[in-house]
Amino acid sequence: MNYRKLGRTELMVSEIGLGCEGFAGHDETLTQKLMNTAEQYGINCLDLYIPNPDLRSRVGQALRGRRKQFVLQAHLCTVFQNGQYERTRDPQAVQNSFEDLLTRLGTDYVDIGMIHYVDSLEDWKAVADGPIMQYAKELQSRGKIRHIGLSSHNPIAALEAVKSGLVDVLMFSINPCYDLQPASEDCFALWDEKNYEHPLVNMDADREALYETCSRLGVGITVMKAFGGGDLLNEKLSPAGKALTPYQCLHYALTRPAVATVLTGAHTVQELTACAKYEDASTTEKDYAAALAALPKISWKGHCMYCGHCAPCPKGIDVAAVMKFLNLTKAQGNIPETVREHYSLLTHAAKECAECGQCQNRCPFEVPVIENMRQAAGLFGK
Ligand code: SF4
Ligand code: SF4
Repeated sequence: MNYRKLGRTELMVSEIGLGCEGFAGHDETLTQKLMNTAEQYGINCLDLYIPNPDLRSRVGQALRGRRKQFVLQAHLCTVFQNGQYERTRDPQAVQNSFEDLLTRLGTDYVDIGMIHYVDSLEDWKAVADGPIMQYAKELQSRGKIRHIGLSSHNPIAALEAVKSGLVDVLMFSINPCYDLQPASEDCFALWDEKNYEHPLVNMDADREALYETCSRLGVGITVMKAFGGGDLLNEKLSPAGKALTPYQCLHYALTRPAVATVLTGAHTVQELTACAKYEDASTTEKDYAAALAALPKISWKGHCMYCGHCAPCPKGIDVAAVMKFLNLTKAQGNIPETVREHYSLLTHAAKECAECGQCQNRCPFEVPVIENMRQAAGLFGK
């Protein structure tokens, strides 16, 4: 298993993480089995948003004796009412639910206290200026949560949160279909067939700005919905008109800037094992470039997807990495210090480009790489 640093936190998380969907509606035995499988494959990042008391207790039991091996991302603002999960911004209910969480998990702290489901600017402002953020900060000062996070499906609300400096971690929905959809306060619109009736072209500018800002400010992203709730893996259900493979979806999410882990909602040991085996998959199995380029309803023409399909460069240039640093710089309007630092660590710089055109010929998205290499060499001076 590969581990990535979660943004500016000290946490190292496994590329493949585990969401809690698989724990819902199952018994203690399956919870134990899923946790054993996670441990076996080195999966250490666990998301818990479902506040079902029974689920929390089962996870707590399964964590006994191995709590420290896991990075727990648990949600503030979820409560269990009338037999179902609900989001709340009621301070007392939030506090009661969080205290219940710690008791049932049998732990003193969680690594990330995730403020749940902030999908509008209005809600973000109320959270940031009100009792929810105050409570999150108080929990942090008491060591009950190590870092404050925020979960969202809306890049505009998420970007404000990231820019505020109040959150260290962002849980965000990322897959190749969502990435082409404009921001919305209604996350169900992201999957609405109506929004796929006309061909979609290129990544939504707000999403791109979000990923690049997270990367620049050191806000680590934990990914949800990488498979679009499973629809992307099914030709009949995929809004893109064709199915992708799990490895392609995982690799797509893991090659977005700032992403540290993809939380898979595995419901069975087999599903979790299949996701963990992404780590041993070949470059060809992970390569999503040709599959995305062939999707009938979607086009990324001229846009670098950081897929690496253009490698190898005879001069040894890591084209995808140069493109990422160039785009980060363009988005910022100047060269951020961290980008300059990372660029200087590249073994081969854009200035070495011999303009042979091999990468351009291999790029399924028709990115004008040579022109971009010239721009990068001019900007970074090498
Ligand atoms: S230039 Fe093209 S092939 Fe290379 S990383 Fe970007 S999108 Fe992929
Ligand atoms: S055009 Fe430049 S970056 Fe592309 S393969 Fe040739 S030398 Fe490498």
